[in-house]
Amino acid sequence: MPDVLVLVDHDGERVHKSTYELLAAARRLGDPAAVVVGTPGTAARLKESLARHGATSVYVAESDEAGEFLATPAVDVLELAVRDACPAAVLVSATTDGREVAGRLAVRLDAGLLIDAVDLDSSGVVTQIVFGGAYTVRSEVTHGTPVIALRPGAVEPEEHPVAAMVRELVVPSVDPATSARITDRRASPAGDRPALTEAAVVVSGGRGVGGAEGFTVVEELADALGGAVGASRAAVDAGYYPHRFQVGQTGKTVSPQLYIALGISGAIQHLAGMQTSRTIVAVNKDAEAPVFGLADYGVVGDLFAVAPQLTEEVTAR
Ligand code: FAD
Repeated sequence: MPDVLVLVDHDGERVHKSTYELLAAARRLGDPAAVVVGTPGTAARLKESLARHGATSVYVAESDEAGEFLATPAVDVLELAVRDACPAAVLVSATTDGREVAGRLAVRLDAGLLIDAVDLDSSGVVTQIVFGGAYTVRSEVTHGTPVIALRPGAVEPEEHPVAAMVRELVVPSVDPATSARITDRRASPAGDRPALTEAAVVVSGGRGVGGAEGFTVVEELADALGGAVGASRAAVDAGYYPHRFQVGQTGKTVSPQLYIALGISGAIQHLAGMQTSRTIVAVNKDAEAPVFGLADYGVVGDLFAVAPQLTEEVTAR
């Protein structure tokens, strides 16, 4: 079976759930080979959980520089690994960073690139969301090693314990003149809430929330459910909530088990970021709001009456 390279998303200590999803998808095409790009010691901490999720090989590319630059170290390493392993495909998460890595890698390899994949089959045919969610298409790379960016949450992660073989890669030194250096890191003020793209439950607020203070209702419901908070672009543009929580075409893509939209009309650009959620609940006072066309459960009503009742019910259980 050919290798399928999977770029590991991690925070240095633990593997992100999106990587387990990539490993499950990779198994459909060949032997999943996890590529860990990080500072020295990272792979040793992550190896066990990667092997538990089916990584038959772990490519280790560690250097002090790895944490200092955006995208370039991962692109350099993946290019090397592709030339070394001749894999069936390269899979990365379709996050902001992952998309950048995927695009740059495809150019380096002169290979076909498929972004916003939500599924792939054993013949390499990929289901993709395109034109901001307006269409779902099935595509296949016909030139070079396919580079596929899979949306977080689109594929179920699976435990599949194997013995992982460790392979060291020589890490090329980064050219600072052509690379973006990370100059500052700030902790997210999201507190104890799960990361938006990893959360099993996302509660999002839109313009209907009416103001920054109105987001308390959204946050309370999210906290009762142990979920993350999201926002529509209209809410973000109006200054109700920070941009890093925006869901949609120009924000984050989420695919939780449960997505609750409070005061969100359901513009196509918003749906593009959450339409693959397992169960969608919408609360909107306008019965004609387009979001009800996608929602599994809809409540026509005032979010300030409905959401606190939901929070109370959940908290009481
Ligand atoms: P609105 O469309 O104004 O809807 C507010 C809703 O709240 C209404 O349906 C109203 O009935 C309801 N409401 C009001 N008060 C209450 C109440 N008390 N209780 C219950 N319901 C209430 N949008 C995104 O979200 N994410 C993106 O990434 C994104 N990218 C874009 C990219 C481009 C290129 C463009 C052109 C647009 C993009 N947009 C994006 C904007 C998108 O088109 C919409 O304008 C936006 O999603 C609307 O946000 P909203 O639903 O919160 O606001």
